[in-house]
Amino acid sequence: MTDERNWAENLTYSARRLVRPRTPDELRDAVSGSEQIRVLGSRHCFNDIADTTGTLISLADMPREIEVAGDTVRISGGVRYGDVAPELEKIGRALSNLASLPHISVAGAIATGTHGSGDRLGSLATAVRSVTLLTTSGEEKTISRGDDEFGGVPVHLGALGVVTSLVLDTEPTYRVAQYAYDGPRWEAILADYDAV
Ligand SMILES: Cc1cc2nc3c(=O)[nH]c(=O)nc-3n(C[C@H](O)[C@H](O)[C@H](O)COP(=O)(O)OP(=O)(O)OC[C@H]3O[C@@H](n4cnc5c(N)ncnc54)[C@H](O)[C@@H]3O)c2cc1C
Repeated sequence: MTDERNWAENLTYSARRLVRPRTPDELRDAVSGSEQIRVLGSRHCFNDIADTTGTLISLADMPREIEVAGDTVRISGGVRYGDVAPELEKIGRALSNLASLPHISVAGAIATGTHGSGDRLGSLATAVRSVTLLTTSGEEKTISRGDDEFGGVPVHLGALGVVTSLVLDTEPTYRVAQYAYDGPRWEAILADYDAV
């Protein structure tokens, strides 16, 4: 047992070992040398969805790659929202929606169908243009929007292998305002819930 815990420290993973590859070759070795694997993102799930009784693989020590091309950005599997948003902002681009915290991993948030903000914006997974997976057979496979099997891939709940990279849509950057309502009363909220 590793005694590793999730971010909130309310869950101890039952994995036998944790490996932290630093290169693609080390990652491939870790995958092919294990019967059962699960990738750890930034450990923010409250349940055991990131757990396994086999090997946990953390991508935290892998190079964090961010490559912009036109209206897309390609990021490697361990990149966090707080890594990619400032890089896009420098060139006047942005993601259409963000996780609530900058240190959440993009691949992990997308894998579980994490929502962002705003009821007119899609969840974080709707930005995915393609997913590159390292499968347990050691094969690397890219599945893109428009491919037959794409629908079930972005929100994969960690079950399809290691997401080694993602290509996401970007859009022109924008500014965000937050309105804080001080001391809202239940009667006022329930009187017109949709407006709230
Ligand atoms: C304080 C807090 C605030 C939150 N805010 C929000 C919010 O605003 N909106 C919302 O919807 N959710 C929110 N969540 C939930 C959180 O966004 C999700 O739990 C998300 O999955 C966390 O990503 P992670 O990388 O930390 O997940 P982990 O728990 O590390 O992993 C989640 C899943 O993704 C898989 N995974 C991670 N990386 C990879 C990879 N590279 N390849 C393959 N599989 C991978 C894991 O195997 C696991 O199945 C919040 C959670 C916390 C604790």
